[in-house]
Amino acid sequence: MRIGMVGVGYVGLVSGACFSEFGVEVVCVDTDEAKIERLRNGEIPIFEPGLDALVASNTAAGRLTFTTDLGAAVRDSDAVFIAVGTPSRRGDGHADLTYVYTAAEQIGQNLDDGYTVVVTKSTVPVGTGREVASIIRRVNPSASFAVASNPEFLREGSAIEDFMRPDRVVIGTDDPHAADVVTSLYRPLYLRETPAVVTSLESAELIKYAANTFLATKITFINEIADLCEKVGANVQDIARGIGLDGRIGGKFLHAGPGYGGSCFPKDTLALVQTAKQVGAPIRIVETVVAVNDARKERMVDKIADACGGSIKGKTIAVLGLTFKPNTDDMRDSPSLEIVPGLRKGGATVRAFDPQGMPEAKELLDGVEWCDDAYSTMEGADCLALVTEWNEFRALDLDRVKALLSQPVLVDLRNVYQPDEMEKAGFDYHSIGRPAVNGAA
Ligand code: NAD
Repeated sequence: MRIGMVGVGYVGLVSGACFSEFGVEVVCVDTDEAKIERLRNGEIPIFEPGLDALVASNTAAGRLTFTTDLGAAVRDSDAVFIAVGTPSRRGDGHADLTYVYTAAEQIGQNLDDGYTVVVTKSTVPVGTGREVASIIRRVNPSASFAVASNPEFLREGSAIEDFMRPDRVVIGTDDPHAADVVTSLYRPLYLRETPAVVTSLESAELIKYAANTFLATKITFINEIADLCEKVGANVQDIARGIGLDGRIGGKFLHAGPGYGGSCFPKDTLALVQTAKQVGAPIRIVETVVAVNDARKERMVDKIADACGGSIKGKTIAVLGLTFKPNTDDMRDSPSLEIVPGLRKGGATVRAFDPQGMPEAKELLDGVEWCDDAYSTMEGADCLALVTEWNEFRALDLDRVKALLSQPVLVDLRNVYQPDEMEKAGFDYHSIGRPAVNGAA
């Protein structure tokens, strides 16, 4: 089998590398020449644990190649995957399908005589697969092809494991031969009894949005329960455990925090809301999730101000963690992009550090004092705000932290530390949805 992977981002690069690990010949193509050049030189343009070794071994085996020539990725391929970005369209929240449709046009222009399956791996609204088919038919009326949807569920930070051991594979197409081609690409997973959901194009496209918006709803639910806990003196971690042990609910995605962010949930919730409105079947629960989550990120600034005695004006805040979650360098829609500007707007000086996100963060955040590590960030700060729970922030030397801060105030937006231990260590400690020993949350 030979496949082309159009778009070499977080999804395209991981998927391409994993398919090549399955023994498939994979040609990855991207319009970004610098990115392709780096990959050809053995450099990985993103931070994703384990990806460097996987790319190196499969490149060395000759199964994984990189090019800017889309024709080379399309010609002689049994399947061509579209894995380009689908960001929110400015202004209205619809998914911006410009990259997908441009890729479809370019693929159509390069299809040769053989039968090819064009597979959308990008997250795309219902109806996109059919539009991809009509674009290809328009630019290449004699092409022999079928379209399929194969949404991707990997998470940044554990992307390889997620791709290699998914909970399920979803394949949507009307063409039985296309279903066979895509199914056979995942054959190594069926040996591990990974379930395959083979369905229509429309259903596959909607499954991805339904999954992401459901998870965003679960996070938002526990965040609101955390707010309630703060008012009534309950502990959100106990609530999460108490409900999560119920098999009908499940314990995952019940970690209260500063609100969801990242490259998927914010744009996918917005896009589903728009699709649903457009067809006259509004999904009000997701509309509310979007509004609640937006407001929450701003409220985190007030939480930090409250911990500082009501105002951050003239205060120095040390911020640890900027990426939307640990183990990635991805800054897209990270809560820190609301929190840091909010702190600065409130008159604070912000010192910040992130293990992998700083190159990107420096492009996105102005006026921040960038630091080299966690401890230098804290020097002389009036408050330490833990925004992203990287492992290296989970076991800080608390005596050293206290000695470095000018005030022992710690706002833990990820509930990494325990309130009683922090009080014993002499901190004025604030977290999410857990009663502090001294009564504050
Ligand atoms: P990304 O922005 O990291 O990568 C997209 C890549 O596509 C870029 O390198 C860009 O240069 C390239 N590209 C754009 N147009 C092209 C063209 N015509 N030809 C060749 N290359 C082109 O995006 P991503 O995070 O990998 O996401 C891709 C899709 O997968 C999105 O729809 C996203 O919603 C979905 N998805 C993402 C994740 C995730 O965790 N990032 C998880 C599941 C699904």
